[in-house]
Amino acid sequence: MKPSGSKISQIIWDILFPIKCLSCHRAGEWLCADCLAKIKIYSYYHCPICGQENKNGSVCGYCRPSSFLDGLLVMLENNRLTKQLINLAKYDFIVDLLKGLEPKIAEYLRRNLFWRDSYVLAPIPLHRRKFLERGFNQSQIICEVINKIKGNEINNSLLEKIKYHHPQVGLSADKRRVNITGSFKINQNNSGDHDRTIILVDDVYTTGSTLEAGAKELKANGYQNVWGLVLIKGQ
Ligand SMILES: [Zn+2]
Ligand SMILES: [Zn+2]
Repeated sequence: MKPSGSKISQIIWDILFPIKCLSCHRAGEWLCADCLAKIKIYSYYHCPICGQENKNGSVCGYCRPSSFLDGLLVMLENNRLTKQLINLAKYDFIVDLLKGLEPKIAEYLRRNLFWRDSYVLAPIPLHRRKFLERGFNQSQIICEVINKIKGNEINNSLLEKIKYHHPQVGLSADKRRVNITGSFKINQNNSGDHDRTIILVDDVYTTGSTLEAGAKELKANGYQNVWGLVLIKGQ
């Protein structure tokens, strides 16, 4: 059979940019099975604001007045490899990397006794300009992986990013909060059942300013329960 144009360009692409494991450089996959096994599930639950341990990751009573989020779920331990994977996916546009984490996400969801199929997943949106630059939204990919495993509904356009700004990396917590304030707007045409729990999905939780800004907009528009879900927490 004659190879199609896209197949030929794929072959050329693979010769120019061979796929190698990011960690051990073995050829064939972005993350080989041995290195994937080194990624650990995050198995602690605590208040995302003060860090006090609890049973499900909810915001504690003491921190509740200062948070729009009701809780935070963290799926993977933050180590050199997970950080490298997330950065490469985001800045080098390697979407397959996030899909490669599927076995780990499945393991996390199997262990999370509180996970409900009634949750609605809503990815943190990118500004349209950023989306066009990158070609995909990494949070949307994470939602798709979860949907494949657990069948949760995804609402891709519940929130809209209306402010374009530069990456938050390197900014202090206060500056991040100011930078992101007013960045999200609810899409009224796509607003669903306000009684269902919304899980706002992002790749990383650093100071929490992005998820808090999204939760603030949802709460202001009648949603009662808004949680965050991320791959890793930390810098
Ligand atoms: Zn490897
Ligand atoms: Zn707390």
